[in-house]
Amino acid sequence: MQQKSSENGAELVERDRQVLWHPYSSVLQPSPLFAVKRAEGVRIQLQDGRWLLDGMSSWWSAMHGYNHPVLNRALQQQAEQFAHVMFGGLTHEPATRLGEQLVQITPAGLSRVFLCDSGSVSVEVAMKMAAQYWQAKGVQGKHRFLSLKRGYHGDTWAAMSVCDPDTGMHHLFRGMLAQQFFVESPSCRFGDDWNPASIEPLQQTLQQHAHEIAALILEPVVQGTGGMRFYHPQWLAEARRLCDQHGVLLIADEIATGFGRTGKLFGCEWAGISPDILCLGKTLAAGYMTLAATLCTDEIATGICSAEPGLFMHGPTFMANPLACAVASASIDLLQETGWQANVQRIQVGLEGHLSGIADQPGVADVRVLGAIGVIEMQQPVDMNRLQPALVEQGVWVRPFGKLVYLMPPYIMQNDDLQQLCQGTMAAISQQAL
Ligand code: PMP
Repeated sequence: MQQKSSENGAELVERDRQVLWHPYSSVLQPSPLFAVKRAEGVRIQLQDGRWLLDGMSSWWSAMHGYNHPVLNRALQQQAEQFAHVMFGGLTHEPATRLGEQLVQITPAGLSRVFLCDSGSVSVEVAMKMAAQYWQAKGVQGKHRFLSLKRGYHGDTWAAMSVCDPDTGMHHLFRGMLAQQFFVESPSCRFGDDWNPASIEPLQQTLQQHAHEIAALILEPVVQGTGGMRFYHPQWLAEARRLCDQHGVLLIADEIATGFGRTGKLFGCEWAGISPDILCLGKTLAAGYMTLAATLCTDEIATGICSAEPGLFMHGPTFMANPLACAVASASIDLLQETGWQANVQRIQVGLEGHLSGIADQPGVADVRVLGAIGVIEMQQPVDMNRLQPALVEQGVWVRPFGKLVYLMPPYIMQNDDLQQLCQGTMAAISQQAL
């Protein structure tokens, strides 16, 4: 079959519309779509030749930017050896090296790595680990999970059950999803004075229901998709203490916060804690391909395997895909070699400086920055069908949702590009407000 030309962006979009479904989208009322030709460094080029500055890192994943020579080389070298082999009964250097690196850089005590396909799957694996652990220990009745309002942990079935019951998709699947416990999201914001009252809802729920709860799952310090809220690290430290006190495991979902985005290598470091189970994804393979990991302590791993059936019951077909592992490994080396912390700090200062100008504009409710995350919260939900093309007109790729227009550029973005990204974003918002 003759390959159709995709030279023309409009034609490509038209062909796409005939057959594809996009994330969180309607096939009846499709929203604007832009065809991409290539991506390089911190820029994405559209089919019509326009270059857009990337403010999204492709949903928190491309932390080193696009088309990176070191990552390309890692991918090519591995492809020349083998692209994939099953992980049942076989192992390889890329997975083993990645496992070693992850154990070394993640919070203390996490000693066992389960590689899997995507962030949502790593959450499923984490929940399964927690449930199987209690079962193996012979503790009856710990079948439910505790989560935070405004939390987000993915779109698969069990992961959905621990997402915010209002802003998540619970209302669509009422009665079908497992019923979990939810506590108020931490009211004490990052940077505010610590307010001990903010931990009381968690304390009360654990006091009443710990015997039914396998684990508390939360996003450390930054609640992402559920509202881009930054909360006080002391809340996290208290949550760790309360989980220990009540015999409940702590699952830290660092799929979005991992690998430096918040200014610490892992969000848990803000509170100086280690979870029992840790989920990683998104930028684990630097935005090149899908890869996730669920790490756990020795206690969990040996606990699960010390009782019938003596195995952890999970094993995805593409577990530990060598291509993804090779890129992930190279990406972790790169992160350390390129001084991620200085870059994230520099971006934080840039975002704070550039975005402060919009805080007083009509329609803007709040502006906040943590690490390489800048958030402009509007008073009303934005009209994506108008704002997205306006942002593209300004030469920036930013994808708002709800009331939130947020920036999380690749760590390599230089100061002048960052300024342009912020100015373009603010100009598009201002135009829409008129
Ligand atoms: N947990 C968190 C905190 C996330 O931000 C996301 C993705 N937005 C997920 C889980 C799900 O990851 P994935 O989209 O790779 O399934």
